[in-house]
Amino acid sequence: MANFDETFDFVVVGSGGGSMCAGLVCRQAGKSVVVLEKTDLLGGSTARAGGVMWIPNNRFMKRDGVEDSFEKGATYLDAVVGDHDDTPGATKERRHAYLREAPEMLEFLIGKGIQFNRAPYWPDYYTNSPGASEAGRTVLADLFDINQLGEWKQKLRPNKFQMAAPIVEAMSLPLIRVSWKARWQATKVVLRTIGAKLTGKHLVTAGAALQARMLQAAVREGVDLRLHSPVREVIVEGNRCVGILTEKDGKPWRIKANLGVLLNAGGFAHNQEMRDLYIPHTRKEWTHAAPGDTGDMHKEMIRIGAWMAQMDEFVGNQMALPPTDPDPAGMQGNICKPHAFLIDQTGLRYMNEGGSYMLFCQGQLERHKTVPAVPSWLIVDSQFMRRYMLCETMPGTAKPKIWYESKFLHRGDTLEELAAACNIPPENLRATTEKFNGFARAGKDTEFGRGDSAYDRFLGDYTHGPNDTLGTVEEGPFYAVQIVPGDVGTYGGVVCNSNAQVMKPDRSVIEGLYATGTTTAGVMGRAYPGAGCSIGPSFTWGFVAAKHAAGLGNSGV
Ligand SMILES: Cc1cc2nc3c(=O)[nH]c(=O)nc-3n(C[C@H](O)[C@H](O)[C@H](O)COP(=O)(O)OP(=O)(O)OC[C@H]3O[C@@H](n4cnc5c(N)ncnc54)[C@H](O)[C@@H]3O)c2cc1C
Repeated sequence: MANFDETFDFVVVGSGGGSMCAGLVCRQAGKSVVVLEKTDLLGGSTARAGGVMWIPNNRFMKRDGVEDSFEKGATYLDAVVGDHDDTPGATKERRHAYLREAPEMLEFLIGKGIQFNRAPYWPDYYTNSPGASEAGRTVLADLFDINQLGEWKQKLRPNKFQMAAPIVEAMSLPLIRVSWKARWQATKVVLRTIGAKLTGKHLVTAGAALQARMLQAAVREGVDLRLHSPVREVIVEGNRCVGILTEKDGKPWRIKANLGVLLNAGGFAHNQEMRDLYIPHTRKEWTHAAPGDTGDMHKEMIRIGAWMAQMDEFVGNQMALPPTDPDPAGMQGNICKPHAFLIDQTGLRYMNEGGSYMLFCQGQLERHKTVPAVPSWLIVDSQFMRRYMLCETMPGTAKPKIWYESKFLHRGDTLEELAAACNIPPENLRATTEKFNGFARAGKDTEFGRGDSAYDRFLGDYTHGPNDTLGTVEEGPFYAVQIVPGDVGTYGGVVCNSNAQVMKPDRSVIEGLYATGTTTAGVMGRAYPGAGCSIGPSFTWGFVAAKHAAGLGNSGV
């Protein structure tokens, strides 16, 4: 029997998406709870993120008359996730539990004063599948004045996106050169930012708004939140998790958990050794995940013999690596705009550049098995450069000199010159371009179906026709940028049941041990059905785990 230094009813490892949600459930049930975060900042990748959650059949859809139901959500998940032997975290039972519990979780948080709304239009990522919602099922936290956090303000992981704009509004800003609507949005953002400054507010958006609102509620309700508290071990006696080993003031510190331990410690995006083993041809420098994502609890679950699955999966996100930015640049919005296409290193297009970012990177790695495609090349022309942003630079502006000097951005007056600069067979680049231009003129990509779904078109330019996402690449000079399969996190881990309880390979559970988020083999399997399919599940399974541990409910069927 371990000797303990301290006791709580519930212990949460990591301060990711589901952590503070679980903490609030425990406090509602009158239980003591501690959240242990190993870094010097709370919030995890969730605070850095867009912060949106995919919640089918939510109250805001009902309010706005957007049709949805449990059945419609189930049809959609059956179609795009489905049942596969290698995705045991995504069984029908778990998918259905998610559809029941996610709207409940949202209601619970609203009851705790967290303000949410729906994204007015954000199509599901597989819009052509049965049960998909074109208007979308995505929910996001309202902007938040982070000054309300007082001393806790400095303890929250910041978000790179610093504008006072809901993420959906911000997503229209890249169209500023071509759309009056985008210009009006930009004006609103500037006015809102000035207004906030004048009234002494510091408005944050996206994941920062979500996690700041959660932090405010958690502090108010008495959740014990600790930084610099890396969890080293999960303590299991017999078949029950009884506590954890962490550190206090740099010394070992054992905490007993009367009711359970929830693992919400993120994935292993920053662990190159694990990447090389499970997701080869990817690099930790290409991730946007928070630095604490080093797979600590994955290794711990392997050590105690828990069931691990889909460790080779990640939430891929097409990235470029501008030398002017310490972080990789997300490129989904660029690649799907008109006057742009993607090719492998032999100069051939090989997939629809639209669809979910996860599907895109799966396609890139799949291509790389037979043809060099990591990195691939984004090819654009001068029409693109005039109209759209490139890696956060404004349309029509001169690009930084260092981009050319460092060979981040290549330029050629002709396609042949560009091909030579990038070491691509010129005849292939010429043939690919002519074929693509034919599709663009016809408004129909008969080879890969780019622009056939509402989601593809959402990524394009609504002012452009006949297809929002297809435009000719014909006006020199031409430009090329390398695209790598980056990510926003890994997507495999420990397998849990519908109560978020950690399972062993024989499908029995380890009593008192729960997991959520990217520490787990996710409920969406190898798919990314819509915006918010990482944070939505992380919050929801945290909610489910805490309810189960506190004796408030059982979500198994
Ligand atoms: C830029 C960006 C935008 C994104 N946008 C969205 C979006 O809008 N919607 C969406 O669904 N997904 C989005 N994603 C993906 C999503 O943010 C992550 O997959 C998700 O936040 C992971 O949440 P989590 O709860 O699993 O863990 P995290 O939020 O990553 O938190 C894990 C925490 O555990 C801590 N930790 C790790 N090991 C230990 C240990 N041993 N002891 C104690 N603590 C530990 C870490 O330091 C970290 O703070 C985005 C990601 C990024 C980077």
